[in-house]
Amino acid sequence: MDEKKLYSPRIMKEILNRHGFEFSKSLGQNFLIDGNIINKIVDAAGIDDNTGVIEIGPGFGTLTQGLCNKAKKVIAIEIDKSLKDVHFETLCYDNLKIIYDDFMKVDVNRLIEEEFKGMKVKLVANLPYYITTPIIMKVLEDKINISGITVMVQKEVAQRLSAKPGNKDYGAISLAVQYRADAHISLIVPNTVFMPRPKVDSAVITIDILEKPRVEVKDEIALFAVIKAAFGQRRKTIHNSMSSNLKIEKEKVKNALENVNIDPGIRAEQLTIYDFAKIAEELYK
Ligand code: SAM
Repeated sequence: MDEKKLYSPRIMKEILNRHGFEFSKSLGQNFLIDGNIINKIVDAAGIDDNTGVIEIGPGFGTLTQGLCNKAKKVIAIEIDKSLKDVHFETLCYDNLKIIYDDFMKVDVNRLIEEEFKGMKVKLVANLPYYITTPIIMKVLEDKINISGITVMVQKEVAQRLSAKPGNKDYGAISLAVQYRADAHISLIVPNTVFMPRPKVDSAVITIDILEKPRVEVKDEIALFAVIKAAFGQRRKTIHNSMSSNLKIEKEKVKNALENVNIDPGIRAEQLTIYDFAKIAEELYK
């Protein structure tokens, strides 16, 4: 039997209506209805027949279908149990397992150990926009053992995640990504490819995780405290912003900056991850 094209709006409406499904705005339910975009996401993720994929929020299953056709195994984590009956009809794949749970509560490293032995693992998703940053931070901070992330997010968020020094979107989250990964925007996506249409445009961002952090520091917590403090008042000089947010005397911050040859009068957005590492090591030595 031919596989149903799940991204067809007619098929989606018919099946969802038959199951009495109602879209939840608060769960960020905007389902993809464009086969071309789905193929592009799967291609950007670089999936082959030895890849294990974790998908957050399969929804109706349009992206899941594309993933199951390329990957060795897919584990999809969906918070909305009301989609169970829909999935029973739309997602009959031998290489797919669906877990009905909140991704934020899942022990992902354990899941990888149990489900993906010997495979390289990627995270692929059209993320629910209300929780994009916490999800990305969970993956980066919990040091989840994956090789890459390819996710659809709000365009502005993608710009912040992948911003480089000197750019207006560059901030603490860009540095959290750079510390552990290389990130680039693979695709800008108009709102017309979703049902229902979100108000904003979206982008697909690809984040390749580095084998080890980009810079070596004694204390990661101190590094991110310094970064957060520097961007705390981004219009102020780093000297002022750091000393008021870290509650360290101005003189001490000034000396530390000068010791590592960084001008205390510049602003946080001009500093690289290497600069921040030097500052943190000097301030907390
Ligand atoms: N992947 C589908 C697609 O591309 O058509 C649906 C994407 S929709 C933007 C986001 C999905 O994530 C929804 O199915 C929603 O129910 C689910 N979701 C929302 N919060 C979640 C969470 N905390 N954990 C797991 N899934 C979640």
